[in-house]
Amino acid sequence: MSATKSTIPRPTNEQLAALYVERKLGCGELGKMFERDPKTVYYWLKQAGIQTRARGTDPAQWFAKGGQDPRSFSGTKHSAESKAKIGAASRGRTPWLRGGVHWLHTVPADRNPKWKGGITPERQEFYRSAEWKRAVKAVWCRADACCERCGLDWRNVDRKATPTFPIHHIVTFAVSELRAAVDNLALLCRPCHIWVHSNENSIQAFLASPWPRRDFAALDQENAS
Ligand SMILES: [Zn+2]
Ligand SMILES: [Zn+2]
Repeated sequence: MSATKSTIPRPTNEQLAALYVERKLGCGELGKMFERDPKTVYYWLKQAGIQTRARGTDPAQWFAKGGQDPRSFSGTKHSAESKAKIGAASRGRTPWLRGGVHWLHTVPADRNPKWKGGITPERQEFYRSAEWKRAVKAVWCRADACCERCGLDWRNVDRKATPTFPIHHIVTFAVSELRAAVDNLALLCRPCHIWVHSNENSIQAFLASPWPRRDFAALDQENAS
């Protein structure tokens, strides 16, 4: 800030008092207003016999460069009591935890809504079955070894990084009748398979509910008769 080139005249003591005392402007703000260094403004205030405020009491300066909000918690530590209170409040915001234990902790795996059939001996046995191997062959042939979502050709990928493409179940594996149904299977590359099961797949591509859509019109008719 140039102190010498300002064309704005020095304010009168009355003007200074009005701005500094009544309107509570700081030296920095007045410096900008009169194109002077804040130290010059401070000097004017002293000359005018105006009682200056202690540094840091001007809220407008709290977030200025290098300034710190006196209410800031930075550099301070929570007491043990505060920590306990914060912990209790945060547990209140985690309804899936009951007494610090996840609500699914005691729920049997097959009652878990995310249950997909599990790595059970039955599942392992299925993946070894001739029925499954036939289905895999049929799916790979239909897809011509290409990802059925993005078209990536397995023959062109690094075999060490990608030894195979996963076969995805459109209707979940949990529905045993459709486990080896070729129409219920899709050959997907790993990134596409991850995408299909992610929240990004908002259109539910490559996913289907095992339960038929309820025909509400027919249901209404039934109830009416
Ligand atoms: Zn793909
Ligand atoms: Zn899948």
